[in-house]
Amino acid sequence: MIPMVDLKTQYHNLKSEIDLAVLSAIESTQFILGPNVTAFEQDTAQYLGTKHAISCASGTDALHLAILAAGIKPGDEVITTPFTFIATAEAICYAGATPVFVDIDPKTFNIDPALIEAAITPRTKAIIPVHLFGQPADMTPIEAICDKYKLLLIEDCAQSFGAAIGGSMTGSLGGLGCFSFFPSKNLGCYGDGGLITCATDELAEQIKVLRNHGSRVRYHHSVIGFNSRLDDIQAAILRVKLRHIDEFNSERRRVAHLYSELLRDSVTVPFEDGVGVHVYHQYTVLTDRRDVIMAKLSEKQISSAVYYPIPLHRQDVFAAAYAGVHLPVAEDVASRCMSLPVYPEMPNEAVHRVAETIKEALLG
Ligand SMILES: *Cc1c(COP(=O)(O)O)cnc(C)c1O
Repeated sequence: MIPMVDLKTQYHNLKSEIDLAVLSAIESTQFILGPNVTAFEQDTAQYLGTKHAISCASGTDALHLAILAAGIKPGDEVITTPFTFIATAEAICYAGATPVFVDIDPKTFNIDPALIEAAITPRTKAIIPVHLFGQPADMTPIEAICDKYKLLLIEDCAQSFGAAIGGSMTGSLGGLGCFSFFPSKNLGCYGDGGLITCATDELAEQIKVLRNHGSRVRYHHSVIGFNSRLDDIQAAILRVKLRHIDEFNSERRRVAHLYSELLRDSVTVPFEDGVGVHVYHQYTVLTDRRDVIMAKLSEKQISSAVYYPIPLHRQDVFAAAYAGVHLPVAEDVASRCMSLPVYPEMPNEAVHRVAETIKEALLG
């Protein structure tokens, strides 16, 4: 049996550190906005190279709070990719704004900067690129477009903790960066969690107020806010894992590079542009014979998954509103993509087994 991720092995490798951290968080009884939260936010800001890092209850909340802090409101438009997890678009809708989907680059699966300008209208307020599967989006042209049209740049970094471009971490490139600590993400906790990075004190202050019931001083409420805080116990776990994140990401790259060497002639393997550092949250290939490969893998007790089978503009929730929108690259990629097991603890022997099984499926 080869799973998509192996959180149990990771826990057992870190058990003494994590158990100690969790027990001492419980012993402190400062469960909400306690000392681990403050320390984790400081450590993360330093790691990512951002002035501020503010934790919250999930990656979806991170996007929602960032969008609200950015002043995005009903009637506004926000440009994003159709090939992502639904949360990217949900957060835009929570604020009453409209997602405008721009097609993706067929090699990186990230938003295609060359198509963005045509989608800009007087109502456009922001662009949300997603660093999908751990591959940094092509930020230089996107930054130039944001400068030219005075748009906010909000990075969806839910899949890209530790990914970088030219030495700058994702999450430090735009005005705001949004992270998820969902258990299976590259940096994951043992429940839900999220974080927002930002460069200005004003945005940081607004986000802190929004995540805590619109309150700066206890029982004084200046705006309608939310209950969206990271638990101290989760922050304690994240502080342990943050110490190992570079090693986790380089092990993911080891697995990915071995797959690419073995599978290069069988499927379209992931593209690396040589500028950004891809941290392989997912190892995703393209093939016309997805069903055959997935059936054979499943027969051999090897997990695989389709991230994502339906681009957002074709989801039931959006289909009617976007019926006239055609995004041929996203539609094609969604019909041919599949993701293979990738996790830091995955042995080379297991990578060989997956690759051999795929080759066997393609022969049959
Ligand atoms: C996981 C994910 C989110 C949402 O994060 P949650 O912590 O699950 O709310 C948002 N965007 C992308 C691209 C994701 O992969």
